[in-house]
Amino acid sequence: MALRTPSLKYIFNAVLIAITPLYSVASDEVNIYSARQESLIKPLLERFTEQTGTKVNLVTGKGDALLTRLKSEGMNSPADILLTVDAGRLYRAQEAGVLQAIASDELNSLIPDHLRSSDNQWYGLSVRARVIIYAKNRVQTSQLSTYESLADPEWRGKVCVRSSGNIYNQSLVASMIVSQGMKKTEAWLEGFVANFARPPAGGDRDQIKAVAAGQCDIAVVNSYYLGGMILSDDQSQQTAASKVALFWPNQQDRGTHINISGAGITKSAKNINLAEELIAFLAATGSQEWYAERNNEFPVRDTVKVSSVLESWGPFVADTLNVSELGRNNSAAIMAMDRAGWK
Ligand code: FE
Repeated sequence: MALRTPSLKYIFNAVLIAITPLYSVASDEVNIYSARQESLIKPLLERFTEQTGTKVNLVTGKGDALLTRLKSEGMNSPADILLTVDAGRLYRAQEAGVLQAIASDELNSLIPDHLRSSDNQWYGLSVRARVIIYAKNRVQTSQLSTYESLADPEWRGKVCVRSSGNIYNQSLVASMIVSQGMKKTEAWLEGFVANFARPPAGGDRDQIKAVAAGQCDIAVVNSYYLGGMILSDDQSQQTAASKVALFWPNQQDRGTHINISGAGITKSAKNINLAEELIAFLAATGSQEWYAERNNEFPVRDTVKVSSVLESWGPFVADTLNVSELGRNNSAAIMAMDRAGWK
């Protein structure tokens, strides 16, 4: 067969092969690794697709498992966004080097300073408050004031709280280390642990149920669990919720401890602009109202209206500590809880 000059088709194919990697870099889909329950995020993602035509692929898993996966996949990870709960966990992702900083004026204007990392690696998308739940028939609100006061001997054997392995508690203790210092926090932990009604077990809902059942008078939990129980179809949860009430701690000083769910763009992201657009969509007013209605969490901006359940708890002063500090002080908190014998 005689040699021929390369046909146009050959040249076209060669060019196509050379530029293919560019095309695979810029896809028009966004891939999310999410530690949220699917029902708490999927409807919003579908709304985003409806409005923009951008397909969103959702991978749901446990927060720590998703982080491990991101680390092992490295730059080959298909993920564009990591969405998870608790600033402590977002901070871990930041420290693990799986996120990248994005300078976005839009995100910075939508999300207050204290609810995002100072170097723009992650952004808070909803606010959760860790509150005191008390038995209505055994506790007067005049007995309640601060987290600190829950270490007083008056509460001996009357406090229920989940284990120290739970990051919500770790973040609460981290916030106390920042505001009170390690010495006072250690003394507080000692008194608080001595007041436990039982060895920590179960999740936040179980602590609320234990208060309702009379096993303890006080519990420290995230407020959306109470919201979920009030609105539950399950009569036993509604009944339990009706026996307790919510108290906002530390209203005279630094405010109630809050945390976030949030998202960051991964270092491996193929589509930074779309990922940024999606995060901005989640922070926009419509999505924020949905979060408050569906998840009983608080919006990141207090101009967004909340559901009647959240409104029924009244306004509260929230701690304005930058949530990054919860991550920065996480290991110190874990060690202090351990020393105090918080199981
Ligand atoms: Fe939770």
